[in-house]
Amino acid sequence: MIRCIRRSAEASSVTRIADKIAALEHRSCCGTELADLRPGTPISRDLALQLIDCSDGDLPTLLAAARAAKENFKPGVITYSRKVFLPLTNLCRDYCGYCTFRRDPGEPGAHTMSPEEVLAVARAGEKLGCTEALFSLGDKPELIFPEMRETLQRLGYKSTLHYLEAMCELVLRETSLLPHPNPGLLSAEWIARLSAVSPSMGLMLETTSNNLLASGRAHDNAPDKIPAKRLRTIEEAGKQQVPFTTGLLIGIGETLEDRVDTLIAIRDLHESYGHIQEVIVQNFRTKSAIPMAHSPEPSHGEMLRAVAVARLLMPNVNIQAPPNLSAPYYEELLDAGINDWGGISPLTPDYINPEKPWPHLEQLRLRTEDKGFQLRQRLPVYPEFLSAVLSRPGLLSRKVQAALDSDGLAREMRAA
Ligand code: SF4
Repeated sequence: MIRCIRRSAEASSVTRIADKIAALEHRSCCGTELADLRPGTPISRDLALQLIDCSDGDLPTLLAAARAAKENFKPGVITYSRKVFLPLTNLCRDYCGYCTFRRDPGEPGAHTMSPEEVLAVARAGEKLGCTEALFSLGDKPELIFPEMRETLQRLGYKSTLHYLEAMCELVLRETSLLPHPNPGLLSAEWIARLSAVSPSMGLMLETTSNNLLASGRAHDNAPDKIPAKRLRTIEEAGKQQVPFTTGLLIGIGETLEDRVDTLIAIRDLHESYGHIQEVIVQNFRTKSAIPMAHSPEPSHGEMLRAVAVARLLMPNVNIQAPPNLSAPYYEELLDAGINDWGGISPLTPDYINPEKPWPHLEQLRLRTEDKGFQLRQRLPVYPEFLSAVLSRPGLLSRKVQAALDSDGLAREMRAA
């Protein structure tokens, strides 16, 4: 629900965000509207459109409001998930213009992990205090590649999703890690099946812009990136009350209006079903070997504006941005209202952006503390979404229970 609430005598006792940004000398018309917001009240689409395009002079006001909104939501703490990244297969039937992860069969680096490889990485991560096994993989490669069908047959599975399900179950059974699968579009049946072996799952919405499907644009050869299909998967997860991670990708050819509308689409789904456990704001980084090699990256200022607008559109939702994609100035994302750094691995690279290493966890802690926050390790399911998972008896809830501390975060945090 979008409301812009004006000052009133009855509301005078409410602590206003205005108190926290009053010290700012510069007060634009956006600043005035932000000053009139009650804590926890989402901004309107109109205001979001103004803010995402605000001048450099207005940016400090926007950031102050976003940071105040974050503090109203989750004061004093920033979380992250210590993970291993398991690229189960990098074969994919889509060809997104910005992707360096995907391979065709026979290309250098094309690989489908064996169960032994999956378990070895998960066990190594367990020794380093990891609590998340992130399964990231290409979308339905067996539909276009006979080589993948042969691989799956050799492994004893009918499809990539059957194999993923078995690997989630293997990690859950054999280690203390909790799986978080990101396999692309999912049917209702597969959401139900995967939710039995993982406490949460994810699918980046990326954008609601159909324009990116046009010839020569980022998604022109990516049948699984049709926005309506992705929205359907996220909605189905909501109907099944599965804690869900999604987000937007900025800088892939979308407009500022598209960014706002993508965030609002996520907000609408969350208002309907209450299942969006986090929203990732991810910035495109260029690479030499991709079709979009010559596309400009979004600036740091664009990223700060997108994050701050996400926070103000969804003041009570976890907002995350990956630090490695904004290095060396990633701590400034804290000024824009994130409350989570996402998955950080002390073991495995970011296979999606391999040229951008994750920060060392000790560095991340120091930079987070320098901004006035405590860094805490969380599980792949956020504390406020635990009850749905724990209410279902079985291996999954036992494993989640064993990993929890009294705050609903990860039980222990070892030195990296
Ligand atoms: S971004 Fe995902 S869906 Fe697109 S090509 Fe890469 S692996 Fe496939």
